[in-house]
Amino acid sequence: MNIILIGPPGAGKGTQARILEETYGIVQLSTGDMFRAAIRDQEPLGLQAKALMEAGNLVPDDLTVQMLEARISKPDCAKGFILDGFPRTVPQAEALDRVLEAQNKKLDAVIEITADESALIERIAGRFTCASCGAGYHDAFKPTQKDGVCDSCGSQEFLRRSDDNAETMKTRLQAFHTQTAPILPYYKAKGILKEVDGMAEVQTVAKEIKEKLNSAILRYATG
Ligand code: AMP
Repeated sequence: MNIILIGPPGAGKGTQARILEETYGIVQLSTGDMFRAAIRDQEPLGLQAKALMEAGNLVPDDLTVQMLEARISKPDCAKGFILDGFPRTVPQAEALDRVLEAQNKKLDAVIEITADESALIERIAGRFTCASCGAGYHDAFKPTQKDGVCDSCGSQEFLRRSDDNAETMKTRLQAFHTQTAPILPYYKAKGILKEVDGMAEVQTVAKEIKEKLNSAILRYATG
């Protein structure tokens, strides 16, 4: 099963992608995580992306598509994938269609996770992840059970994204509205777009996504 999650920063794409990864045994492909890894490893791609990401702007399409194409061609994507943060522009969506067609793959569903803009900055500003296992937390909504210790793996090191601040968030939201939202009609026209309310509890959102995915699978199975 091949799925796209689309939504503004803070809508919960990463959280839901990790739940889907466990439920369906398919891989999460986050272009943001890939860029952050390239920056951390001081790869040339990371150097090209760093300043743009820190300012909240998008990385150019050609670099992003190349990186995604290389990743999606790996054997672990054969069973399926969840795209989290890609595509983010109409040219990226068109390029994805070409990449999938060349690999004899198709998209099963595109899930749009909606959220109230007023809640997004609060969600973004408090979030942090375990540096060791990647488990996600939030200062107010989901603190660690024991102060400074990861619930999942016991690590005491955590990361906060440098672009998770109110100033950069404004640019990221603007990028979402002007460059990413125009993708929605593209997928709507293909009949694979489903909308989910991202303001509900994490598990409620996950349940709604699974229901929508199950009906999408059924629709394909029955032709
Ligand atoms: P994310 O982790 O998805 O919030 O992405 C963090 C940042 O990485 C974005 O603000 C962009 O600068 C960059 N980025 C991630 N995915 C893409 C993409 N598909 N196209 C362009 N830039 C991206």
